[in-house]
Amino acid sequence: RGRMGSRLRAAWLTGKTRPMEYRVAQLEALGRFLDEKKQDILEATSLDMSKVRGRGKAQGALRRLQHLDPASGRHVEKNLVTQLDSAFIRKDPYGVVLIIAPWNYPIHLLLVPLIGAIAAGNCVIIKPSETTKNTEKLVAEALPCYLDKDCYAVVTAGVEETTKLLENKFDYIFFTGSPTVGRIIMTAAAKHLTPVTLELGGKNPCYVSDNCEVHNVARRVAWGRFFNAGQTCIAPDYILCSVEMQDKLMPALREAITEFYGPNPKESPDFARIVGDKQFRRIQALLGSGRVAIGGQTDEQERYIAPTVLADVKASDPAMQEEIFGPILPIVVVANMDEAIDFINARPRPLALYVFSCDNKVVKEVLERTSSGGFCGNDTLMHVTLTSLPFGGIGNSGLGKYHGKFTFDTFTHHRSCLHRNMGLEAINCPRYPPYNQQKLGL
Ligand code: NAD
Repeated sequence: RGRMGSRLRAAWLTGKTRPMEYRVAQLEALGRFLDEKKQDILEATSLDMSKVRGRGKAQGALRRLQHLDPASGRHVEKNLVTQLDSAFIRKDPYGVVLIIAPWNYPIHLLLVPLIGAIAAGNCVIIKPSETTKNTEKLVAEALPCYLDKDCYAVVTAGVEETTKLLENKFDYIFFTGSPTVGRIIMTAAAKHLTPVTLELGGKNPCYVSDNCEVHNVARRVAWGRFFNAGQTCIAPDYILCSVEMQDKLMPALREAITEFYGPNPKESPDFARIVGDKQFRRIQALLGSGRVAIGGQTDEQERYIAPTVLADVKASDPAMQEEIFGPILPIVVVANMDEAIDFINARPRPLALYVFSCDNKVVKEVLERTSSGGFCGNDTLMHVTLTSLPFGGIGNSGLGKYHGKFTFDTFTHHRSCLHRNMGLEAINCPRYPPYNQQKLGL
């Protein structure tokens, strides 16, 4: 590990990763990895967590290539004494960066930051999640065959080894995972004053106002909640609505779930499984909250938990104490919008916040009076499809942002530069001591 770190540090110091042609060549090699290994990636991810059909998504990330900014510096305004000089902001790489990924989208959450880090000219160490063993193995074995080994490395590590890895000095750490581990990462980074991006999670509220199209709401919420069996950081975690809306939503949610996954979701090729036994047991324990209105079936052997809706859940119930990260949707009844807003504001700031209402004023008011990493009115998850929008959390849900051009910016140091002209020394006289009254303008 130590040797690998020095190898990357040495490569960084040669300046090898800086030329634009080099970065493009490495990104193209990464593109070949995705093309040539597509089948292996799909197999590994489905072995790891019964990923369902049609998820060969990482390719799309390569479109980021177009965001490479060939201009190495942007010239800026000057003052009177620097008129003959060159003042510019240079987009510099940070150096050797570390990317740590979670298991829930094990390829996407590893490679999208990697693309940004390469594009920005860094040397990179990536650490996939040890939970998704097959994907970890595939990445560790195959990716180094495509990328320059002097500058990019894959580390396979569990908690203990990652703790050791974090003792090293990096120039940037990009972490995606839980808020608990986020704190550990930030503490380790603080020892070296290393800047960090923390892409974390939490409970994403979804307020459904009385004035809305129930069937469309049900489909859009059910899709967001049950996609990847609820193991999505921006999934709507719970619904806040009136007791009347809860009654109306229940049959509509049942209909949407049956429409998507058939009468027995266990047999649906489009419904995923829980990633591991530990996670399965944790989620299963949350089924005791409120009243099971839809679903509730489990099969430990298969790590299957049916798409489930819990009615009349209380704020003090277990399902409301932690991020669910599974196919369970609790409904918490509130009297009105004001109560929903108070409920949201009394809790840690979420990564995503959802509001459904036919009345634009309601959507705007909830947006205005709350705070969250991202926001989507009248749908779930969809804001993340826009690479023109920065993606990231606030407070407990994270620090920093990426996606599209923002990924490139995240891994880029904006270096302030002034290149002075050596002539016209007379202009400088007033700033040199000794200071007399004339120099001080008295
Ligand atoms: P996790 O925090 O347990 O693990 C994430 C990574 O950290 C893994 O690579 C793991 O090996 C490493 N890690 C775990 N414990 C560590 C320790 N003590 N020291 C150092 N490294 C350690 O998260 P997870 O279970 O893999 O993923 C689920 C969480 O990630 C959820 O909270 C989810 O909301 C969040 N998430 C956030 C985003 C986002 O973009 N904001 C995306 C996906 C998942």
